[in-house]
Order: sequence, then C-alpha cells, then structure tokens
Amino acid sequence: MHVIYGGTFDPIHHGHLRLALELSDRLGVPRIHLVPCHIPPHRGETGASSAQRLRLLELAIAGESQLAIDSRELDRAGASYTADTLRQLRREVGEDEPLVMVVGTDAFAGFDRWRDWQQIPGLAHIVVVRRPGPPLDPSGKPARLLAERAAEDVSALYGKPGGLILELDPPLLDISATGIRERIGEGRSPRYLIPDPVWDEIRRMGLYGACPDDNF
Ligand code: ATP
Repeated sequence: MHVIYGGTFDPIHHGHLRLALELSDRLGVPRIHLVPCHIPPHRGETGASSAQRLRLLELAIAGESQLAIDSRELDRAGASYTADTLRQLRREVGEDEPLVMVVGTDAFAGFDRWRDWQQIPGLAHIVVVRRPGPPLDPSGKPARLLAERAAEDVSALYGKPGGLILELDPPLLDISATGIRERIGEGRSPRYLIPDPVWDEIRRMGLYGACPDDNF
C-alpha cells in the first residue's frame, strides 16, 4: 500500500510529523510519503518558496525511515492538482496496489472544488483525519461521498486498489502552520512546535519575518 500525505507544509511542524507516524502505524505501512504542493490552487501565496519548504521538510525528516518526501508537485510547472499526482502514481505502482491519499477534515470539506475530484475515488482510497472544527455539512457533496464509500476499517483498504473512504481519529497535536508563522512574525519563539533544525534554518534563511540573529 502506497500512502501520500499532501500539504503546503509552510512550514512543516510537529502536528504533521506526529500524524504521519501515527498513520504509518495505524495503516500498517512502513512509510508515509509527504507531498509538498507547489502553488496551492486554493490557498494563494505561501510564506516560503517551494525550495525553502522542501529544505525544511528534508531537515525535519532526516534519519526517520517511516517518512519520505515526494517532491513531484514541486518539479511540475504551474499549479499542482492531486488528481494529476494520483494518476502518475497509479501508473507507477500498477493497477492492483492500494493507493491512499490522506487529508484532514478541513481539506476534505472543500473536496468538491478540487480539480477532477470525481475521478479521485477511481484512482485511490481517501483517509480523512478528523480535525477539530466544524463537522462536514451532512448535505454537502463531500459528506455524501463519504457515506457512499465508507470503509469499515483499515483492512478493507487492502482489499481494493482504491475507491473507499476511511475516517480516522488519531491523536492530534494542536499546532498549525498559520500559528507558527504568526508567532515568528511577532518575534515569539516557535520552539517545541517545530523541530530545532527547522527553526535554525528558518532563522538562517530569514523566513516568516525571523532574523538570523534571533536568539530565542
Ligand atoms: P495552515 O495553518 O497554513 O493552513 P496547516 O498547519 O493546516 O497549515 P497544511 O500544510 O495546510 O498545514 O496541512 C496539510 C495537511 O495536514 C492537511 O490535510 C491538514 O488537515 C493536516 N494538518 C495540519 N495541521 C495538523 C495537525 N496539527 N495535526 C494533524 N493534521 C494536521
């Protein structure tokens, strides 16, 4: 089973990293592939460039065999669409291998605005991670899709290459990249929310308003 977990990772933080390890354990896969997006079609400008976000990801996962980076969306010119990534991956892993895309409920709530969203269940399973915040609108298309395609448990995902949606409720750390960018911009320390090497590199590169000589 090949599992991808996409995001802007602007910057990567311990909330993302812990979730990825929890998923690796719960889904029973040796590795989770983190897929940073290039120009997020729904999000506007990022705080750091693609190359900078990739550098921070590399530092964050260094030495961790359960995590890998798949930078294909950064290498693609223009906007990155998950459906394109899944089509490419489907060709690579073959027709029978289960392919899984992980999203938070916040991201899944807008699933019906994603490019070619109706083709995505034909390409992969979706694991929806419950995050705090408003529940899915029960009359909306994402909630209806989830009800139609709900998987009972993890083992169901192994029985088919794609098409099922599994809701998971792993323990989550209350950390957001927005909060980290704000904190740094206000001159407050983000330590213990992000790995130390990531914070060192943010200062060195002067990202999000940090100064190389900040000493907190
Ligand atoms: P931002 O604050 O800039 O919106 P973010 O911290 O939510 O960023 P993203 O890169 O947008 O991070 O998130 C990528 C994926 O990770 C999304 O599916 C999101 O739901 C999930 N995610 C973000 N933060 C956490 C967290 N603390 N715990 C678990 N999942 C998270």
